[in-house]
Amino acid sequence: MTESLLPPVIAIDGPSASGKGSVAERVAKHFGFHYLDSGAIYRLLAFAAYKQQVPWSDAKALAEIAARLNIRFESGETYLDNQLVSAEIRTEQMGKGASEVAVHPEVRTALLQTQRNFRKAPGVVGDGRDIGSVIFPDAGLKVFLTAAVETRAKRRYDQLLQRGEAASYEHILQDLQQRDLRDSQRAVAPLKQLPDAILLDTTDKNIEQAVNIIIEAFKKAGQNA
Ligand code: C5P
Repeated sequence: MTESLLPPVIAIDGPSASGKGSVAERVAKHFGFHYLDSGAIYRLLAFAAYKQQVPWSDAKALAEIAARLNIRFESGETYLDNQLVSAEIRTEQMGKGASEVAVHPEVRTALLQTQRNFRKAPGVVGDGRDIGSVIFPDAGLKVFLTAAVETRAKRRYDQLLQRGEAASYEHILQDLQQRDLRDSQRAVAPLKQLPDAILLDTTDKNIEQAVNIIIEAFKKAGQNA
């Protein structure tokens, strides 16, 4: 297969709680594309390590778990070793764990192919931190999706309250700031806006508006002909 025959990719990268997941999922649905939630893969690894009592700092042991990770995404649910873990990996604790395991180069390498396998016809929408830079650098459209950190904290706070979980806005804000710092300053695959990515700031936009902007940008890029 030559490069040009590979299924098209829309890469959506950005900081935590920017709405990437909701936006990416809807864009994928619009085009009938597959959806790669790369953050979920890091969360699954953090969760698997936690269950096996492997510390999130142990790069070598984590890379071994990553290489054998038995995951499945089906009908919006996430499975680890055939067990439903959708809710377990969405906690703030596993978000923090994901960002800790994600700093290790060995871990990122071990998860590279797992993520590339999502590139199947008719196309894929991937969201994360390094989709456009490392996983699919030849993506037909790259988007840097962001929003002010206070807006993101408020969205995450509302989301947790809706789920009936106890939450503190101040704590979430602090955690997001720390995570932004860790994600953007790490040595390997740091989060940054690529020169060939369009900037989409959703501070004053809702999900539907962001989705429409991406759909139009992709059509314009001529990738869905
Ligand atoms: O996007 P989500 O909040 O689920 O990601 C959890 C963590 O996983 C992020 O804070 C980040 O550290 C890590 N991650 C990453 N590279 C990706 C996706 C997520 O390092 N492509």
